[in-house]
Amino acid sequence: ITVSALRETAAGERRVAITPEVAKKLRGKGLRVLLEHGAGAAAGFPDTAYADVEFADAAHVLAQADLLACVLSPDDDALGRLREGAVVVGQLRPHGAAARIAALAQKKLIAFALELLPRTTRAQAMDVLSSQAAVAGYRAMLIAAENAPKFFPMLTTAAGTIRPSRVLVIGAGVAGLQAIATARRLGAQIEGYDVRPETREQVESLGAKFLDLGVSAAGSGGYARELNAEERAAQQQALAEHLKVFDVVVTTAAVPGRAAPKILTTAMVDGMKPGALIVDLAAESGGNCELTRPGERVEHGGVVILGPLNLAAGAPLHASEMYARNIYNFVELLIRDGALQPDFEDELVAKSCVTRNGEALLNA
Ligand code: NAD
Repeated sequence: ITVSALRETAAGERRVAITPEVAKKLRGKGLRVLLEHGAGAAAGFPDTAYADVEFADAAHVLAQADLLACVLSPDDDALGRLREGAVVVGQLRPHGAAARIAALAQKKLIAFALELLPRTTRAQAMDVLSSQAAVAGYRAMLIAAENAPKFFPMLTTAAGTIRPSRVLVIGAGVAGLQAIATARRLGAQIEGYDVRPETREQVESLGAKFLDLGVSAAGSGGYARELNAEERAAQQQALAEHLKVFDVVVTTAAVPGRAAPKILTTAMVDGMKPGALIVDLAAESGGNCELTRPGERVEHGGVVILGPLNLAAGAPLHASEMYARNIYNFVELLIRDGALQPDFEDELVAKSCVTRNGEALLNA
């Protein structure tokens, strides 16, 4: 069985789906590992770091791969060069990507979108949403610290005392909690907010204060549900009042398969302190702030709104290490009796599969 990865081609993407450590583990399972020249270079893994791995150009890799692991989906041209029946595993961004899924199906590929894995205990070791969200949350807070006009920590100096920055994190999922932990390490005074009631304890366990706005919206599978109009109005009214005190707001709120909830309105931003900074980690799916422009810096009144994209690619070495381990754990599921034969009775396999037997599945 040949397991392969290409050099990722999305703009700014520096991660790689197979690291030297994981290549070694795959070899240990008796699999052949064939990578494109320079596949890991941008993540800090030159070809020479991979022991006992074959390298070739992309066309050769695609022609021979039985299983292609990717960080993001390769383009249609690359997918078209894979052999019929080949397996593709990665973050295929299945929501709202009907055309790409149809293309995968038409090429008779067996494709697994790891974003669709259920968030169960057994799936944790393959949970790319979690591993990459942790990187994104960390990076978002560093970007906030770098761009804020203030220090994060309190300083007592001969030139007077500097008060710590007040930081709010909206959305306390995996990314939000990592952002909170990072702000704590930098010495900010930090509060966290979420609509899932169980996040209170998680926020507090990081030494942050939980901001209670009295709106609760737990959905299914551990996710939040969308707020109705009344709840959204109540949330916005309560939040507008609190926002006035914060120097930095990092937003991470998401509802699976939907555009990011718009939580911060223009009027709310108008009420913020001059010099305040918003880092909108949800920019990729439309943003949590009405003023966010994905990938751009917006100035509104005295407030700066940043909408950074693909944050996990900004710490590519550790992001790749975690991602590749996720991939390895998933690939292990697909190999039975020494052959690549996914067990579609297994819910992790069944729920993440988006194309099979030439058909796009309802999971997508
Ligand atoms: P996510 O990226 O889907 O959303 C980020 C956060 O935004 C969530 O905490 C959500 O509650 C919050 N949110 C949504 N709408 C909001 C709104 N209008 N206002 C404020 N906050 C809002 O979430 P995630 O980080 O992927 O985590 C989702 C769930 O999965 C959590 O329950 C997490 O604990 C769970 N999880 C489970 C496992 C596992 O057991 N395998 C692994 C990771 C995460």
